[in-house]
Amino acid sequence: MHKRSAEAYQRALQLIPGGVNSPVRAFKGVGGTPVFFESGQGPFLFDLDGNKYIDYVASWGPKLQGYSFAPVVQAVTTQAQRATSFGAPCLIELELANLLVSSVPSLEKIRMVNSGTEATMSVIRLARGITNRDRIVKFTGCFHGHADSLLVQAGSGVLTLGLPDSPGVPRALAQQTLSLPYNDIEAVQDVFTQFGSEIAAVIVEPIAGNMGCIPPVEGFLEELRTQTTQHGSLLIFDEVMTGFRVALGGAQEMFEVSPDLTTLGKVVGGGLPVGAFGGSAELMDQLAPIGPIYQSGTLSGNPLAMAGGFALLNSLDTDFYDKLDELTGYFTNGIRDVAKKHNIDLCINSVCGMFSFYFTSQSKVSNYHHVEQCDSARYAKFFHEMLRQGIYFAPSAYECAFVSGSHTTLEIDKTLAAFDDVLKRL
Ligand SMILES: *Cc1c(COP(=O)(O)O)cnc(C)c1O
Repeated sequence: MHKRSAEAYQRALQLIPGGVNSPVRAFKGVGGTPVFFESGQGPFLFDLDGNKYIDYVASWGPKLQGYSFAPVVQAVTTQAQRATSFGAPCLIELELANLLVSSVPSLEKIRMVNSGTEATMSVIRLARGITNRDRIVKFTGCFHGHADSLLVQAGSGVLTLGLPDSPGVPRALAQQTLSLPYNDIEAVQDVFTQFGSEIAAVIVEPIAGNMGCIPPVEGFLEELRTQTTQHGSLLIFDEVMTGFRVALGGAQEMFEVSPDLTTLGKVVGGGLPVGAFGGSAELMDQLAPIGPIYQSGTLSGNPLAMAGGFALLNSLDTDFYDKLDELTGYFTNGIRDVAKKHNIDLCINSVCGMFSFYFTSQSKVSNYHHVEQCDSARYAKFFHEMLRQGIYFAPSAYECAFVSGSHTTLEIDKTLAAFDDVLKRL
């Protein structure tokens, strides 16, 4: 079934460390070897061996309207015929910037970069430069890309591979990052009592999405807002995953908490490499060339990526999110019913188009400690059984599943039938 993928992987192992350009792709979390894909159409993926899959990975989020979404293909093709890069200003940068600033409540100015990691790395430098403080507060199991200051007790691939904090991160830098349990309001109060005047910023995924999907408990984001304001620290929402995934204005619109700075990525590039960070004009104007804090990028604001991102975001409205939410609800309710039928303990978390199901008897999963107690071996077995049935979930128990605007109840019903068959035998 996966002959050509297996051959390609053997070749890849000779050329690329671990055969992949990003660790989670290597299937280390579920065993076996990765599937190599050739094309995608709507909610479907096609691999090298001609197998067809219903996809719930969505390129880790960006494929919000599914694969080969016509407006994106058209915009990127048209732009490619004009120029793929200038390294100089062009109008499409303004179109996307304007769309981001008018959609996300706390944004007045935005700067484009090429990945989520670049966005969080840059926003941390900005926060440190503005406050003239070094300490950063983050939350265990949240993932903010692989910049040195943020690769401390992180989620996503770091969690999947069971890695401790990475070698190569200078100890002196890691010591400036304080990591607290997600959703722990008291821990936030304590850290500010102890270190308040030294904390440059709190960075948080306003809905955690890199240890599965974990929504904030009531009052958590509000407390972050209160404490940072009280102590002259900045509040950063890392909305690289949640931006345009859960609402036009992201999680900050949904929970009505306004951060000082916001990072975006994934959906914002429509499947092309894009990141962005922004905030009030006052804060953002501290960046070079008008301010003293340096940040740059040869390909930043790349016209191909801007055109792709703009075409995708331009297709979205509040109606879209209502339908996405409804479809996700239909799916998660279906999963809950099937699990009950086969007496399998499952805990399901979801927010609009992102969700996760944890194999666990715990009644709730609301932080990293809970996630650690879930049965990842059972997920691995589930993953491979589903793959055999033509359903592609993330090759890790700790990643979210995503529903797109291209999925219909037809694909979801097929997926639920596969769930029924697989859970019966788990
Ligand atoms: C994916 C992700 C990142 C990193 O983005 P890359 O484009 O992979 O560098 C950062 N923060 C969050 C919340 C993410 O989900």
